[in-house]
Amino acid sequence: MELIKKIISGAIAIGEGMSMVFRHNKRPATTVEYPERKDRFNARLRGHIAVATNEDGSINCIDCKSCVRVCPCGDLINIESHKDEDGKLCFDRFSIDLGRCIVCGNCVDICPKKVLLMSDDYEIAKYEKNDLVYELDDLKLSYEKTHQLQQDLEKGD
Ligand code: SF4
Ligand code: SF4
Repeated sequence: MELIKKIISGAIAIGEGMSMVFRHNKRPATTVEYPERKDRFNARLRGHIAVATNEDGSINCIDCKSCVRVCPCGDLINIESHKDEDGKLCFDRFSIDLGRCIVCGNCVDICPKKVLLMSDDYEIAKYEKNDLVYELDDLKLSYEKTHQLQQDLEKGD
């Protein structure tokens, strides 16, 4: 008798489990087959720190070093500049060690010229640690990408 009870309760449990499988089977998938397919995340995604560019490829940085001072990770932002004979700011160095960045966003929040922003790029894995030291050209977003991210942020997407 005990055995029959166990068989019946086992069959009921299997039936309940299978009915759940079939119910979920009909629902649309919430995952994607990464890396073949990549979803576009909303603009609040904290990808790596990037540099906004103007239409002509220039950047609005005034080398105030607020970002350097506010970074909790020490010296990972490195900005050095000089003025040319026309008084224009030229960058000798503008790099961020993304391998040490904790993506806190302090530098983005403090930047008075909105030069720094969080990109939606989350694929920066490298084999060598030093490859994560991004120079200005690596950090610069295209003007179109800058514009798109800024618009998405304004819309609160
Ligand atoms: S996000 Fe935070 S840790 Fe990363 S560079 Fe900016 S201030 Fe430093
Ligand atoms: S806070 Fe902005 S403007 Fe100031 S040095 Fe950093 S990136 Fe340039």
